Amino acid sequence: MAAEPTAQESRSRDLDKLLLRTGNLVGPTFEPGPALRDDLKEYGRVLVVGAGGLGCELLKDLALSGFRKLEVIDMDRIEVSNLNRQFLFRLEDVGKPKAEVAAKRVMERVSGVNIVPHFCRIEDKELEFYSKFSIIALGLDSIEARSYINSVACSFLEYDSDDSALEETIKPMVDGGTEGFQGHARVIVPGVTPCFECTIWLFPPQVKFPLCTLAETPRTAAHCIEYAHLIKWDEVHSGKAFDPDDPEHMKWVYNEATKRAELFGIPGVTYSLTQGVVKNIIPAIASTNAIISAACALETLKILSGCSKTLSNYLTYNGAEGLHTKVTEFVKDKDCLVCGPGVLIQLDTSITLEKFIDLLKDHPKLQLSKASITHRGKSLYMQAPPVLEEMTRSNLSIPLFDLIGKIPKDVVHATGTTTKNDKKTSCLRKLRVVFKGVDGIADMDTAGET
Ligand SMILES: [Zn+2]
Repeated sequence: MAAEPTAQESRSRDLDKLLLRTGNLVGPTFEPGPALRDDLKEYGRVLVVGAGGLGCELLKDLALSGFRKLEVIDMDRIEVSNLNRQFLFRLEDVGKPKAEVAAKRVMERVSGVNIVPHFCRIEDKELEFYSKFSIIALGLDSIEARSYINSVACSFLEYDSDDSALEETIKPMVDGGTEGFQGHARVIVPGVTPCFECTIWLFPPQVKFPLCTLAETPRTAAHCIEYAHLIKWDEVHSGKAFDPDDPEHMKWVYNEATKRAELFGIPGVTYSLTQGVVKNIIPAIASTNAIISAACALETLKILSGCSKTLSNYLTYNGAEGLHTKVTEFVKDKDCLVCGPGVLIQLDTSITLEKFIDLLKDHPKLQLSKASITHRGKSLYMQAPPVLEEMTRSNLSIPLFDLIGKIPKDVVHATGTTTKNDKKTSCLRKLRVVFKGVDGIADMDTAGET
């Protein structure tokens, strides 16, 4: 009679069916066997970005999928309102960093897994930090944060002289997102599939109600609330800014919205709906997070092990009415500034680093202000922190050509801020610099590029 399986064996039983056997959907280099399973444990390093609703699920799913080396980054602290779905947190954890508590809880429950937490902003980490991971799993709720991580992962990408992506420089990502009963999971393989920026139009700017509807023909409770919030408040308070965190202000809007709703015979205005509309809160649904994270964890396993074809490349899930799920294959934007070969900038060898930084500000495609510049991992100039600024300041008056070792053609990275939809956002851009008249490189036609 066979011996009882150990806890460890029974935990990997289902995983073994994927990793120890071959199949019709496996990747071209897939080699099933215990060595693969052990390699994933040993070498599969996964970074989870975000330790909120999706991040908690992702950490648990990845740990239970056999990954041993996980890290998680999140800048938030735990709030009472998180506890209904961010299941790794307890009441006594309120006020503590999410990343630290999430890592601790998963390690307590899943033996053998090591999770390193990082309680900081994603922008606070250097590029080198991100470069050490095999894959990055995103559980975020902000477009800006996704866009930033995407630009970081794409910055590692290098192209050969035929403009094909070099496989060893590809840093894959899986990205999950949920909003109420809807969600998406996507696979981003920079240089192969569209990156986040290629399909940025999937996230249109927030739709606001037209003011004329609010003022003249309200039809819903939300219309009445927005009327009180956007129109009536200003009429009555001339110049005093509305503060969504001030309960008196919120109460005033609620009372005005109720009056208006009565006037038009519209039901449904409540205090909590008023908060929801004004603060633009969409209720988070725990089951949507669980479903989307499961899809992301599975794609992570597929990408790193080759045990199956991956999602190609965008799954949408909608559980609001019945259940609808669909996979769409989006295509790359060949002119993408982020995952493409990089913006080509032609320069004179005499251009100083300071002049170069100025030029990025006015460049029509980049409009990158306050740029910090790195070359092959070395900081040429850093705007912050002050100690690094001081250390690198003397480089400003040196020609860029000299700083990068008199190479006629190379890639430099610039981190700075750019303005998108009237909002300042951090971004990272890959720049291909080419120096005129060096080593027989002919002047290239870069009209409008410099
Ligand atoms: Zn792209």
